[in-house]
Amino acid sequence: MKLEQNYSLKHLNTFGIDQQAASYVLLREGAELAEAINQAKGLGQELRVLGGGSNLLLTQDQPHFFVQPGFDNIQVLEESNTTVQVRVDAGFNWHNWVLYSLNQGWYGLENLSLIPGMVGAAPIQNIGAYGVEVKDFVKAVHFRSLRDASQHVLSNEECRFAYRDSLFKQELKGEIFIESVVFELLKQPNINTSYGAIEQELEAMAVKNPSPKDVSAAVIKIRQSKLPDPAVLGNSGSFFKNPILPVKQVNSLQEQFPNIPVYPISEQEAKVAAGWLIEQSGWKGKRVGPCGVHEKQALVLVNYGGASGAQVLSLAKDVISAVEERFSVSLEPEVNVW
Ligand code: FAD
Ligand code: NAP
Repeated sequence: MKLEQNYSLKHLNTFGIDQQAASYVLLREGAELAEAINQAKGLGQELRVLGGGSNLLLTQDQPHFFVQPGFDNIQVLEESNTTVQVRVDAGFNWHNWVLYSLNQGWYGLENLSLIPGMVGAAPIQNIGAYGVEVKDFVKAVHFRSLRDASQHVLSNEECRFAYRDSLFKQELKGEIFIESVVFELLKQPNINTSYGAIEQELEAMAVKNPSPKDVSAAVIKIRQSKLPDPAVLGNSGSFFKNPILPVKQVNSLQEQFPNIPVYPISEQEAKVAAGWLIEQSGWKGKRVGPCGVHEKQALVLVNYGGASGAQVLSLAKDVISAVEERFSVSLEPEVNVW
Protein backbone atom coordinates (compact mmCIF):
# COMPACT_ATOMS: atom_id res chain seq x y z
CA MET A 1 0.00 0.00 0.00
CA LYS A 2 1.64 3.21 -1.15
CA LEU A 3 0.72 6.49 0.51
CA GLU A 4 0.60 9.48 -1.86
CA GLN A 5 0.41 12.98 -0.42
CA ASN A 6 -0.91 16.15 -2.09
CA TYR A 7 -2.09 13.88 -4.87
CA SER A 8 -3.86 15.30 -7.93
CA LEU A 9 -7.36 13.89 -8.44
CA LYS A 10 -7.65 15.32 -11.97
CA HIS A 11 -7.57 11.91 -13.64
CA LEU A 12 -9.64 10.27 -10.92
CA ASN A 13 -12.85 12.26 -11.46
CA THR A 14 -14.83 12.24 -14.71
CA PHE A 15 -15.46 16.01 -14.55
CA GLY A 16 -11.67 16.31 -14.92
CA ILE A 17 -11.45 18.92 -12.17
CA ASP A 18 -7.92 19.57 -10.96
CA GLN A 19 -7.98 19.39 -7.15
CA GLN A 20 -5.68 17.57 -4.77
CA ALA A 21 -6.23 14.99 -2.06
CA ALA A 22 -4.15 15.51 1.10
CA SER A 23 -3.57 11.74 1.09
CA TYR A 24 -4.45 8.89 -1.27
CA VAL A 25 -3.96 5.13 -1.22
CA LEU A 26 -5.02 2.40 -3.61
CA LEU A 27 -5.98 -0.63 -1.51
CA ARG A 28 -4.88 -4.01 -2.85
CA GLU A 29 -7.36 -5.81 -0.58
CA GLY A 30 -10.11 -4.84 1.87
CA ALA A 31 -7.96 -5.85 4.86
CA GLU A 32 -5.55 -2.98 4.06
CA LEU A 33 -8.24 -0.58 5.22
CA ALA A 34 -7.10 -1.15 8.85
CA GLU A 35 -3.64 0.22 7.98
CA ALA A 36 -5.18 3.17 6.13
CA ILE A 37 -7.35 4.00 9.15
CA ASN A 38 -4.22 4.10 11.37
CA GLN A 39 -2.31 6.27 8.90
CA ALA A 40 -5.25 8.68 8.56
CA LYS A 41 -5.51 8.92 12.37
CA GLY A 42 -1.80 9.70 12.59
CA LEU A 43 -2.22 12.50 10.06
CA GLY A 44 -5.42 13.81 11.70
CA GLN A 45 -7.33 13.32 8.42
CA GLU A 46 -10.83 11.99 7.79
CA LEU A 47 -11.19 8.96 5.54
CA ARG A 48 -13.05 9.27 2.27
CA VAL A 49 -13.80 6.54 -0.27
CA LEU A 50 -13.22 7.18 -3.96
CA GLY A 51 -14.58 4.89 -6.67
CA GLY A 52 -14.32 5.80 -10.34
CA GLY A 53 -15.05 9.47 -9.54
CA SER A 54 -18.05 9.56 -11.91
CA ASN A 55 -20.57 10.91 -9.45
CA LEU A 56 -18.50 13.70 -7.94
CA LEU A 57 -17.87 17.41 -8.25
CA LEU A 58 -14.67 18.57 -6.54
CA THR A 59 -14.98 22.23 -5.55
CA GLN A 60 -11.78 22.52 -3.50
CA ASP A 61 -8.58 20.72 -2.51
CA GLN A 62 -9.57 17.83 -0.28
CA PRO A 63 -8.06 17.80 3.23
CA HIS A 64 -8.96 14.10 3.51
CA PHE A 65 -7.32 10.68 3.33
CA PHE A 66 -8.71 8.98 0.21
CA VAL A 67 -8.93 5.22 -0.14
CA GLN A 68 -9.81 3.60 -3.46
CA PRO A 69 -10.47 -0.11 -4.01
CA GLY A 70 -7.76 -1.52 -6.27
CA PHE A 71 -8.94 -5.14 -6.17
CA ASP A 72 -11.30 -6.78 -8.63
CA ASN A 73 -11.85 -10.50 -8.19
CA ILE A 74 -14.99 -12.38 -9.20
CA GLN A 75 -16.16 -15.49 -7.39
CA VAL A 76 -19.17 -17.73 -8.14
CA LEU A 77 -20.80 -18.57 -4.80
CA GLU A 78 -23.79 -20.67 -5.78
CA GLU A 79 -25.41 -21.91 -8.95
CA SER A 80 -28.77 -23.49 -9.72
CA ASN A 81 -30.54 -24.30 -12.99
CA THR A 82 -32.06 -20.84 -13.09
CA THR A 83 -29.78 -18.45 -11.19
CA VAL A 84 -26.18 -17.80 -10.25
CA GLN A 85 -24.82 -15.91 -7.24
CA VAL A 86 -21.58 -14.07 -7.90
CA ARG A 87 -19.46 -12.00 -5.52
CA VAL A 88 -17.69 -9.13 -7.29
CA ASP A 89 -15.01 -6.95 -5.68
CA ALA A 90 -15.58 -3.22 -5.30
CA GLY A 91 -12.76 -2.24 -7.67
CA PHE A 92 -14.19 -4.02 -10.74
CA ASN A 93 -15.18 -1.56 -13.46
CA TRP A 94 -19.00 -1.56 -13.65
CA HIS A 95 -19.36 -1.74 -17.43
CA ASN A 96 -16.72 -4.47 -17.71
CA TRP A 97 -18.64 -6.46 -15.09
CA VAL A 98 -21.86 -6.09 -17.14
CA LEU A 99 -20.05 -7.33 -20.28
CA TYR A 100 -18.36 -10.16 -18.36
CA SER A 101 -21.71 -11.33 -16.92
CA LEU A 102 -23.36 -11.36 -20.37
CA ASN A 103 -20.45 -13.34 -21.81
CA GLN A 104 -20.92 -15.95 -19.06
CA GLY A 105 -24.65 -16.25 -19.92
CA TRP A 106 -25.67 -14.51 -16.70
CA TYR A 107 -28.47 -12.09 -17.43
CA GLY A 108 -30.18 -9.07 -15.90
CA LEU A 109 -27.66 -6.23 -16.03
CA GLU A 110 -27.90 -5.54 -19.79
CA ASN A 111 -29.93 -2.32 -19.42
CA LEU A 112 -27.25 -0.97 -17.07
CA SER A 113 -24.54 -1.12 -19.75
CA LEU A 114 -22.01 1.70 -20.13
CA ILE A 115 -22.63 3.31 -16.73
CA PRO A 116 -19.22 4.57 -15.57
CA GLY A 117 -17.74 3.83 -12.16
CA MET A 118 -16.91 0.81 -10.05
CA VAL A 119 -19.00 -2.08 -8.74
CA GLY A 120 -18.50 -0.88 -5.14
CA ALA A 121 -20.37 2.37 -5.81
CA ALA A 122 -23.30 0.78 -7.64
CA PRO A 123 -25.41 0.04 -4.54
CA ILE A 124 -24.79 3.50 -3.07
CA GLN A 125 -27.21 5.39 -5.27
CA ASN A 126 -28.85 2.16 -6.52
CA ILE A 127 -27.73 2.92 -10.07
CA GLY A 128 -30.50 2.75 -12.61
CA ALA A 129 -31.15 3.15 -16.31
CA TYR A 130 -33.73 2.09 -18.88
CA GLY A 131 -36.21 0.78 -16.33
CA VAL A 132 -33.74 -1.40 -14.39
CA GLU A 133 -32.13 -0.67 -11.02
CA VAL A 134 -29.15 -2.53 -9.58
CA LYS A 135 -31.26 -3.42 -6.53
CA ASP A 136 -33.17 -5.85 -8.75
CA PHE A 137 -30.04 -8.06 -8.86
CA VAL A 138 -28.20 -7.34 -5.59
CA LYS A 139 -28.33 -10.21 -3.13
CA ALA A 140 -26.01 -8.75 -0.47
CA VAL A 141 -23.44 -6.02 0.13
CA HIS A 142 -20.22 -6.70 2.08
CA PHE A 143 -18.60 -3.67 3.69
CA ARG A 144 -16.11 -2.56 6.32
CA SER A 145 -16.50 0.17 8.91
CA LEU A 146 -14.33 3.24 8.28
CA ARG A 147 -13.87 3.49 12.07
CA ASP A 148 -12.29 0.10 12.81
CA ALA A 149 -12.28 -1.88 9.51
CA SER A 150 -14.73 -4.42 11.01
CA GLN A 151 -16.58 -6.50 8.40
CA HIS A 152 -20.35 -6.48 7.93
CA VAL A 153 -22.89 -7.73 5.43
CA LEU A 154 -26.36 -6.46 4.57
CA SER A 155 -29.05 -8.33 2.66
CA ASN A 156 -30.91 -6.64 -0.19
CA GLU A 157 -33.84 -5.74 2.11
CA GLU A 158 -31.50 -4.30 4.73
CA CYS A 159 -29.89 -1.95 2.16
CA ARG A 160 -33.20 -0.01 2.00
CA PHE A 161 -32.86 0.61 -1.71
CA ALA A 162 -35.10 3.27 -3.22
CA TYR A 163 -35.06 5.45 -6.35
CA ARG A 164 -31.36 6.53 -6.66
CA ASP A 165 -31.05 5.98 -2.92
CA SER A 166 -30.04 3.47 -0.23
CA LEU A 167 -28.98 3.19 3.41
CA PHE A 168 -25.41 3.89 2.19
CA LYS A 169 -26.46 7.39 1.10
CA GLN A 170 -28.38 7.96 4.34
CA GLU A 171 -27.51 6.57 7.81
CA LEU A 172 -24.27 4.92 6.63
CA LYS A 173 -23.06 7.89 4.55
CA GLY A 174 -19.34 8.44 5.10
CA GLU A 175 -19.18 5.50 7.54
CA ILE A 176 -18.35 2.52 5.36
CA PHE A 177 -16.17 1.04 2.64
CA ILE A 178 -18.01 -1.37 0.34
CA GLU A 179 -15.69 -4.29 -0.27
CA SER A 180 -17.79 -6.49 -2.57
CA VAL A 181 -21.29 -6.95 -3.90
CA VAL A 182 -23.11 -10.27 -4.32
CA PHE A 183 -25.33 -10.37 -7.40
CA GLU A 184 -28.01 -12.91 -8.19
CA LEU A 185 -28.35 -13.14 -11.97
CA LEU A 186 -30.58 -15.16 -14.27
CA LYS A 187 -29.59 -18.00 -16.54
CA GLN A 188 -32.60 -17.45 -18.78
CA PRO A 189 -33.02 -14.03 -20.40
CA ASN A 190 -35.87 -11.87 -19.13
CA ILE A 191 -35.36 -8.86 -21.30
CA ASN A 192 -36.92 -5.44 -20.84
CA THR A 193 -36.96 -3.32 -23.99
CA SER A 194 -39.99 -1.21 -23.20
CA TYR A 195 -38.10 1.82 -21.96
CA GLY A 196 -37.00 4.84 -23.95
CA ALA A 197 -35.50 4.25 -27.38
CA ILE A 198 -34.37 0.61 -26.93
CA GLU A 199 -36.99 -0.88 -29.25
CA GLN A 200 -36.35 1.78 -31.88
CA GLU A 201 -32.62 1.11 -31.70
CA LEU A 202 -33.10 -2.68 -31.99
CA GLU A 203 -35.24 -2.06 -35.06
CA ALA A 204 -32.50 0.12 -36.56
CA MET A 205 -30.07 -2.74 -35.81
CA ALA A 206 -32.48 -5.08 -37.64
CA VAL A 207 -32.78 -7.35 -34.59
CA LYS A 208 -36.14 -9.15 -34.32
CA ASN A 209 -35.72 -11.43 -31.29
CA PRO A 210 -33.21 -9.61 -29.16
CA SER A 211 -30.85 -11.42 -26.80
CA PRO A 212 -29.55 -9.68 -23.64
CA LYS A 213 -26.33 -8.95 -25.57
CA ASP A 214 -28.41 -7.22 -28.29
CA VAL A 215 -30.15 -5.13 -25.62
CA SER A 216 -26.76 -4.22 -24.16
CA ALA A 217 -25.51 -3.23 -27.63
CA ALA A 218 -28.62 -1.09 -28.20
CA VAL A 219 -28.23 0.65 -24.82
CA ILE A 220 -24.55 1.31 -25.58
CA LYS A 221 -25.45 2.82 -28.97
CA ILE A 222 -28.17 5.07 -27.52
CA ARG A 223 -25.94 6.23 -24.69
CA GLN A 224 -23.02 6.94 -27.04
CA SER A 225 -25.31 9.04 -29.24
CA LYS A 226 -26.86 11.08 -26.39
CA LEU A 227 -24.36 11.35 -23.58
CA PRO A 228 -20.99 13.05 -23.55
CA ASP A 229 -18.04 10.66 -23.15
CA PRO A 230 -16.17 11.82 -20.02
CA ALA A 231 -12.88 10.97 -21.75
CA VAL A 232 -13.70 13.69 -24.28
CA LEU A 233 -15.94 16.13 -22.36
CA GLY A 234 -15.79 16.17 -18.56
CA ASN A 235 -19.10 15.42 -16.81
CA SER A 236 -20.64 13.38 -14.02
CA GLY A 237 -23.76 12.16 -15.80
CA SER A 238 -27.06 13.56 -14.57
CA PHE A 239 -26.16 16.41 -12.29
CA PHE A 240 -29.69 16.62 -10.86
CA LYS A 241 -32.16 14.04 -9.61
CA ASN A 242 -35.57 13.74 -11.22
CA PRO A 243 -37.81 15.26 -8.55
CA ILE A 244 -40.39 13.00 -6.95
CA LEU A 245 -43.32 15.19 -5.98
CA PRO A 246 -46.70 14.80 -4.25
CA VAL A 247 -49.45 13.98 -6.77
CA LYS A 248 -51.32 17.17 -5.82
CA GLN A 249 -48.35 19.33 -6.87
CA VAL A 250 -47.90 17.28 -10.07
CA ASN A 251 -51.59 17.72 -10.97
CA SER A 252 -51.30 21.46 -10.58
CA LEU A 253 -48.11 21.49 -12.73
CA GLN A 254 -49.92 19.45 -15.40
CA GLU A 255 -52.76 21.99 -15.46
CA GLN A 256 -50.30 24.80 -16.16
CA PHE A 257 -47.92 22.79 -18.37
CA PRO A 258 -49.88 20.04 -20.17
CA ASN A 259 -46.73 18.64 -21.89
CA ILE A 260 -44.74 18.06 -18.71
CA PRO A 261 -43.41 14.44 -18.66
CA VAL A 262 -44.72 12.71 -15.54
CA TYR A 263 -44.17 9.09 -14.44
CA PRO A 264 -46.29 7.64 -11.60
CA ILE A 265 -44.33 6.24 -8.62
CA SER A 266 -47.15 5.45 -6.18
CA GLU A 267 -50.66 6.69 -5.38
CA GLN A 268 -49.12 9.57 -3.48
CA GLU A 269 -46.11 10.48 -5.62
CA ALA A 270 -44.99 10.94 -9.21
CA LYS A 271 -41.62 11.57 -10.91
CA VAL A 272 -41.12 14.58 -13.14
CA ALA A 273 -38.36 14.66 -15.80
CA ALA A 274 -35.84 17.22 -14.54
CA GLY A 275 -34.25 17.45 -18.01
CA TRP A 276 -37.55 18.80 -19.41
CA LEU A 277 -37.84 21.39 -16.61
CA ILE A 278 -34.30 22.60 -17.37
CA GLU A 279 -34.92 22.72 -21.11
CA GLN A 280 -38.16 24.66 -20.66
CA SER A 281 -36.31 27.10 -18.38
CA GLY A 282 -34.04 27.92 -21.33
CA TRP A 283 -30.85 26.27 -20.09
CA LYS A 284 -30.38 23.31 -22.46
CA GLY A 285 -27.16 23.79 -24.44
CA LYS A 286 -26.28 27.06 -22.65
CA ARG A 287 -22.57 27.68 -22.07
CA VAL A 288 -21.19 29.82 -19.25
CA GLY A 289 -17.41 30.27 -19.59
CA PRO A 290 -15.65 26.89 -19.49
CA CYS A 291 -18.75 24.92 -18.46
CA GLY A 292 -22.31 24.49 -19.61
CA VAL A 293 -25.49 22.45 -19.89
CA HIS A 294 -25.10 19.67 -22.46
CA GLU A 295 -26.81 20.34 -25.77
CA LYS A 296 -28.39 16.87 -26.08
CA GLN A 297 -29.17 16.11 -22.42
CA ALA A 298 -30.09 19.04 -20.17
CA LEU A 299 -29.52 17.02 -16.98
CA VAL A 300 -25.81 16.80 -17.72
CA LEU A 301 -23.45 19.66 -16.88
CA VAL A 302 -20.17 19.60 -18.79
CA ASN A 303 -16.64 20.91 -18.41
CA TYR A 304 -15.47 22.22 -21.79
CA GLY A 305 -11.94 22.36 -20.39
CA GLY A 306 -10.32 24.06 -17.44
CA ALA A 307 -13.52 24.66 -15.45
CA SER A 308 -13.19 24.78 -11.69
CA GLY A 309 -15.62 22.91 -9.47
CA ALA A 310 -16.79 26.29 -8.14
CA GLN A 311 -17.71 27.39 -11.68
CA VAL A 312 -19.70 24.21 -12.30
CA LEU A 313 -21.42 24.60 -8.92
CA SER A 314 -22.32 28.21 -9.71
CA LEU A 315 -23.84 27.07 -13.03
CA ALA A 316 -25.80 24.36 -11.17
CA LYS A 317 -27.15 27.00 -8.77
CA ASP A 318 -28.27 29.18 -11.69
CA VAL A 319 -30.10 26.21 -13.24
CA ILE A 320 -31.77 25.41 -9.90
CA SER A 321 -32.93 29.06 -9.54
CA ALA A 322 -34.32 29.18 -13.09
CA VAL A 323 -36.34 25.97 -12.59
CA GLU A 324 -37.54 27.13 -9.17
CA GLU A 325 -38.68 30.45 -10.63
CA ARG A 326 -40.59 28.91 -13.54
CA PHE A 327 -42.02 25.75 -11.95
CA SER A 328 -41.66 26.24 -8.15
CA VAL A 329 -39.79 22.91 -8.11
CA SER A 330 -36.47 22.63 -6.22
CA LEU A 331 -33.98 20.47 -8.10
CA GLU A 332 -31.46 18.61 -5.96
CA PRO A 333 -28.01 17.51 -7.12
CA GLU A 334 -27.54 13.78 -7.65
CA VAL A 335 -23.78 14.33 -7.84
CA ASN A 336 -21.76 14.42 -4.60
CA VAL A 337 -20.39 17.94 -4.19
CA TRP A 338 -17.09 17.81 -2.25
P1 FAD B 1 -17.63 7.78 -7.17
O1 FAD B 1 -18.10 8.89 -8.03
O2 FAD B 1 -16.16 7.61 -7.01
O3 FAD B 1 -18.29 7.91 -5.74
C1 FAD B 1 -19.66 8.19 -5.60
C2 FAD B 1 -20.03 8.07 -4.12
O4 FAD B 1 -19.92 6.71 -3.71
C3 FAD B 1 -19.11 8.85 -3.17
O5 FAD B 1 -19.89 9.27 -2.08
C4 FAD B 1 -18.09 7.81 -2.71
O6 FAD B 1 -17.53 8.10 -1.45
C5 FAD B 1 -18.95 6.58 -2.66
N1 FAD B 1 -18.23 5.32 -2.92
C6 FAD B 1 -17.66 4.95 -4.10
N2 FAD B 1 -17.15 3.70 -3.98
C7 FAD B 1 -17.39 3.30 -2.70
C8 FAD B 1 -17.10 2.13 -1.96
N3 FAD B 1 -16.45 1.08 -2.48
N4 FAD B 1 -17.49 2.07 -0.66
C9 FAD B 1 -18.15 3.12 -0.09
N5 FAD B 1 -18.43 4.25 -0.72
C10 FAD B 1 -18.06 4.34 -2.03
N6 FAD B 1 -25.75 6.74 -12.65
C11 FAD B 1 -26.88 6.01 -12.74
O7 FAD B 1 -27.47 5.63 -11.71
N7 FAD B 1 -27.41 5.69 -13.95
C12 FAD B 1 -26.84 6.05 -15.11
O8 FAD B 1 -27.35 5.72 -16.19
C13 FAD B 1 -25.64 6.83 -15.05
N8 FAD B 1 -25.05 7.26 -16.17
C14 FAD B 1 -23.92 8.03 -16.11
C15 FAD B 1 -23.34 8.47 -17.30
C16 FAD B 1 -22.17 9.23 -17.26
C17 FAD B 1 -21.57 9.70 -18.56
C18 FAD B 1 -21.57 9.55 -16.02
C19 FAD B 1 -20.30 10.32 -15.98
C20 FAD B 1 -22.16 9.13 -14.83
C21 FAD B 1 -23.34 8.37 -14.86
N9 FAD B 1 -23.97 7.91 -13.69
C22 FAD B 1 -25.11 7.15 -13.77
C23 FAD B 1 -23.42 8.26 -12.37
C24 FAD B 1 -22.29 7.32 -11.87
O9 FAD B 1 -21.69 6.64 -12.94
C25 FAD B 1 -22.79 6.30 -10.86
O10 FAD B 1 -23.37 6.92 -9.75
C26 FAD B 1 -21.68 5.36 -10.38
O11 FAD B 1 -22.21 4.31 -9.61
C27 FAD B 1 -20.61 6.09 -9.56
O12 FAD B 1 -19.55 5.17 -9.39
P2 FAD B 1 -18.07 5.63 -9.05
O13 FAD B 1 -17.29 4.38 -8.78
O14 FAD B 1 -17.55 6.53 -10.08
O15 FAD B 1 -18.30 6.42 -7.67
P1 NAP C 1 -34.85 9.42 -21.47
O1 NAP C 1 -35.05 8.01 -21.91
O2 NAP C 1 -34.79 10.51 -22.48
O3 NAP C 1 -35.94 9.79 -20.39
C1 NAP C 1 -36.00 11.10 -19.79
C2 NAP C 1 -36.43 10.96 -18.36
O4 NAP C 1 -37.74 10.42 -18.30
C3 NAP C 1 -35.51 10.04 -17.62
O5 NAP C 1 -34.96 10.76 -16.59
C4 NAP C 1 -36.38 8.89 -17.14
O6 NAP C 1 -36.31 8.68 -15.75
C5 NAP C 1 -37.80 9.29 -17.45
N1 NAP C 1 -38.48 8.18 -18.16
C6 NAP C 1 -38.48 7.94 -19.50
N2 NAP C 1 -39.25 6.86 -19.77
C7 NAP C 1 -39.73 6.41 -18.60
C8 NAP C 1 -40.57 5.33 -18.22
N3 NAP C 1 -41.08 4.51 -19.13
N4 NAP C 1 -40.85 5.15 -16.91
C9 NAP C 1 -40.33 5.96 -15.99
N5 NAP C 1 -39.51 7.01 -16.28
C10 NAP C 1 -39.22 7.24 -17.56
O7 NAP C 1 -33.53 9.51 -20.57
P2 NAP C 1 -32.01 9.57 -20.98
O8 NAP C 1 -31.46 10.82 -20.51
O9 NAP C 1 -31.83 9.16 -22.40
O10 NAP C 1 -31.41 8.43 -20.06
C11 NAP C 1 -31.72 7.08 -20.32
C12 NAP C 1 -31.57 6.29 -19.03
O11 NAP C 1 -30.24 6.37 -18.57
C13 NAP C 1 -32.48 6.81 -17.91
O12 NAP C 1 -32.97 5.72 -17.19
C14 NAP C 1 -31.53 7.62 -17.05
O13 NAP C 1 -31.86 7.61 -15.68
C15 NAP C 1 -30.19 6.91 -17.26
N6 NAP C 1 -29.08 7.87 -17.12
C16 NAP C 1 -28.72 8.24 -15.86
C17 NAP C 1 -27.67 9.11 -15.66
C18 NAP C 1 -27.21 9.46 -14.27
O14 NAP C 1 -26.13 10.02 -14.13
N7 NAP C 1 -27.97 9.17 -13.26
C19 NAP C 1 -27.00 9.65 -16.76
C20 NAP C 1 -27.43 9.29 -18.03
C21 NAP C 1 -28.48 8.40 -18.21
P3 NAP C 1 -35.17 7.80 -15.02
O15 NAP C 1 -33.97 8.67 -15.04
O16 NAP C 1 -35.73 7.60 -13.67
O17 NAP C 1 -34.98 6.52 -15.77
